[in-house]
Amino acid sequence: MKLKGNVTLITGGGQGIGRSIALLFAEEGSDIAICDVNPDSLNQTKDEIKEKNRDCLTFTADVTKFDQVEDVVNKILDKFGRIDILVNNAGITRDSLLVRMSEEDWDRVLDVNLKGSFNCTKAVAKPMMKARGGKIINIASIIGIIGNPGQANYAASKGGMIALTKTMAKELASRNVRVNAIAPGFIKTAMTEKLSEDVKGAMLKEIPLSRFGEQGDVANIALFLAGEDSSYITGHVIQVDGGMVM
Ligand code: NAP
Repeated sequence: MKLKGNVTLITGGGQGIGRSIALLFAEEGSDIAICDVNPDSLNQTKDEIKEKNRDCLTFTADVTKFDQVEDVVNKILDKFGRIDILVNNAGITRDSLLVRMSEEDWDRVLDVNLKGSFNCTKAVAKPMMKARGGKIINIASIIGIIGNPGQANYAASKGGMIALTKTMAKELASRNVRVNAIAPGFIKTAMTEKLSEDVKGAMLKEIPLSRFGEQGDVANIALFLAGEDSSYITGHVIQVDGGMVM
């Protein structure tokens, strides 16, 4: 077991990539805390984690609200006395071309994806620094590297997460807190399910490995970054995109 004795907080962990990371980390021995805005999916994931004989705390909390995030982190510390790994995974899209994009859609995507990551990182940084150890994994996107028409808000938020990753890696390295990002390409989840067949077909043509990614493809890299196999890696962005961007 690669994460035995660890405690992991995963945001947006009720479904999709976050859920897959939660289940894999539980299999690898970590106790799990997940926060999400959807209590139904939270409860379902909690049951699945309990079946793996790990402790699981769930919180209906919005990562855009610092007071809610701070409360989540304090409750994890009360229960487990530590927090070893944070996965900033909660994310949304609100796509449209820039000239049609509302201020509300811009603000919401930046709030959830980027400010949410700032809030959670800030809340765990002190306990991790005090413990002289921790791992923070930011789920960014290749769109934050290459941009994409119709996703100005999303691309800016994910590019911001990559810049946040590098800055936090530099700020926290002296306390043995490693900060890395994963930039997935097209992964099969509810987020990509809503895209039209035309868009999916066009994207598939851009993927040298000729398949869309599975949630487990991202979870496996998160496990690598959370464990000791990556102990000399910080400030890095690992693309999980089937070769789409190279
Ligand atoms: P998903 O299935 O939509 O899961 C995202 C989860 O985050 C949902 O459970 C969602 O709840 C939750 N969430 C949304 N707003 C939240 C908030 N304010 N506070 C807490 N939780 C919140 O998406 P996914 O595809 O697994 O994506 C996970 C991450 O990977 C995202 O950051 C996404 O940008 C990134 N990513 C995904 C892909 C892909 O191809 N799927 C590619 C690149 C990057 P609700 O559903 O109730 O809103």
